[in-house]
Amino acid sequence: MSIREHIACLEELSALDQEIRLIEESLAQERTSLADLKKELERLESSIAADSASIAEMAKARGELSQEVRQLATQVERSREKLARSRNEREQNAATRELEELRRIQKDREEEVGKLQVLEAQAAKSKEDAEAARNELLGKLSSSEGETTVKIDEIDAQRTSKLEARKQLTKTLPRNVLSRYEIIKQRRGTAIALTHDGTCLACHMQVPPQLFQKILRNEALELCPSCQRILYYKPPPKPEEA
Ligand SMILES: [Zn+2]
Repeated sequence: MSIREHIACLEELSALDQEIRLIEESLAQERTSLADLKKELERLESSIAADSASIAEMAKARGELSQEVRQLATQVERSREKLARSRNEREQNAATRELEELRRIQKDREEEVGKLQVLEAQAAKSKEDAEAARNELLGKLSSSEGETTVKIDEIDAQRTSKLEARKQLTKTLPRNVLSRYEIIKQRRGTAIALTHDGTCLACHMQVPPQLFQKILRNEALELCPSCQRILYYKPPPKPEEA
């Protein structure tokens, strides 16, 4: 295999690697968007469950408080009767104090009931909002999940076929050339660089004229001294091709 053939093969390999990179990027993107939707759905479900639990808890507490308020009303009534029946100042004072104390407790409890009602309404609103968002998301998921899964499978199949093509291609390259390519690719993203006139088109540095002459002669694979990519020559495209 001549150096020229190595280079042609590396060019093909590099183009294939670019395609594979793009395929993998879009695959990751599709998977992330689906996973994001599902994560958001989980978040909404747990927020709805938390709101339901706290609404139930508050309703229970409010029920107990309301019952206490009713009992207090009965006690207030009795205390009033006691006051009406009081026969002297001492009894009257005692009954008044009791009545005041009962009314204070009654007022406290009623305020607590009122506060709970406000909190319950807030939780109900939050639950309602989350349910609306969840339903919208479920609709979105049911229409896009199947589609996205098909898309992911398609992209995955493309990836598999490109990887197979890559495998076949790399078999034609000598092991040392391939490993050199892989090492540079890992470090730089791309492993080969083109030059038309002695300027590396990957890093835009000018190579020494002597090295450029060597590259033109195609005697060995040469590296760009600046970016360390495999540097190869091709004549610049003619204006009508460009
Ligand atoms: Zn370079």
